[in-house]
Amino acid sequence: MSEQPLPRKRILTGDRPTGKLHLGHYIGSHRNRLKFQEQYECFFLIADLHMLTTKPDKESIEHIAEIARTIVLDHLAIGIDPHKVTFYLQSAVHEVYELQLLLSSLVTVERLQQLPTIKDMAAAAGMDQIPYNLLGYPVLQAADILMPRANLVPVGKDNESHVELARQIARRFNNAYDEVFPLPDSFVEGGTLVGTDGQAKMSKSLDNAIFLSDDAKTVQRRVMSMYTDPNRIRADIPGTVEGNPVFVYHDTFNPNKAEVADLKERYRTGNVGDVEVKEKLATALNHFLEPTRERRAAYESQSGFVDELLYNGTLRAREEGKQTLSAVRRAMGLAGAWNRISRAAEKRMKKSGQ
Ligand code: ATP
Ligand code: MG
Repeated sequence: MSEQPLPRKRILTGDRPTGKLHLGHYIGSHRNRLKFQEQYECFFLIADLHMLTTKPDKESIEHIAEIARTIVLDHLAIGIDPHKVTFYLQSAVHEVYELQLLLSSLVTVERLQQLPTIKDMAAAAGMDQIPYNLLGYPVLQAADILMPRANLVPVGKDNESHVELARQIARRFNNAYDEVFPLPDSFVEGGTLVGTDGQAKMSKSLDNAIFLSDDAKTVQRRVMSMYTDPNRIRADIPGTVEGNPVFVYHDTFNPNKAEVADLKERYRTGNVGDVEVKEKLATALNHFLEPTRERRAAYESQSGFVDELLYNGTLRAREEGKQTLSAVRRAMGLAGAWNRISRAAEKRMKKSGQ
């Protein structure tokens, strides 16, 4: 008898639809997804309900569809295989809302208030009060993770505590009711890419980003205006390589190590101009992004492809949600309450000829 292969473990991760993806996202997170898709069953959500915690205004909501498409396309452009990944729109999977509510008795307000992430998010969004949905952000995240019964959750270091909470909620649920959820582990992603302006973090709202969708000319322009060693007002002044964003990018994206070593040496000794260093960087970055551009163009030429992918993925996620919810309701005994009432009511109505 041939052995059935074990089902693949599942990954849940995603992006808030607040903008297109840049090189910082790629380095910090998305490049890992290329490896994950080979080993795991992948669920990638467009986390628009999470966006509502800090951006509930109508204008942001109006942009969800367009940004969701862009983010999916960014994934396909870097080489994510549409057959290997389920992309879905969180707000269209109603089981997630329901699950969040059912899980909410397993966590205390104090526990949520102790998470530094919530205060940080409120501060970053310029809020002086914490809305209810922002406090509940980690519970919603737990619902996201537990909905497809994910085993692994790739997150940034700051988000590790949220996966820990999801794990605690899953454990509590299993103990209180029945064994429904696997306990999710976090995969802590790393590496923060510096911004083109030398700020600690490339970030779309700081306007210091190079986007995965930038064309060659835009990349060239952004690189030529990059921040470098400010003390180097002439090419013959020795410069600092360490922490200099131009060299951070060279180290990260230029596969020609000998060229990078030579540029560094000449920079340190004042034997190279910024223009040459930057031109070589623009060439390396464009070389790196070229296959991405080709894939993007190929998918873009198939009109409606991304919509269909997101649509089918969302239907698939709903199916998963339904199965999980029915297991949850069964475990909790909620299904039983409704079944008893509806059966008795139907019997009575039948009898009285209604
Ligand atoms: P915003 O300016 O609106 O905050 P952003 O460009 O910083 O947007 P986010 O949506 O905040 O992007 O980032 C989502 C996730 O992407 C982060 O939690 C982090 O894991 C990763 N990420 C974003 N920027 C970087 C970066 N510069 N380096 C590494 N990882 C990053
Ligand atoms: Mg940010």
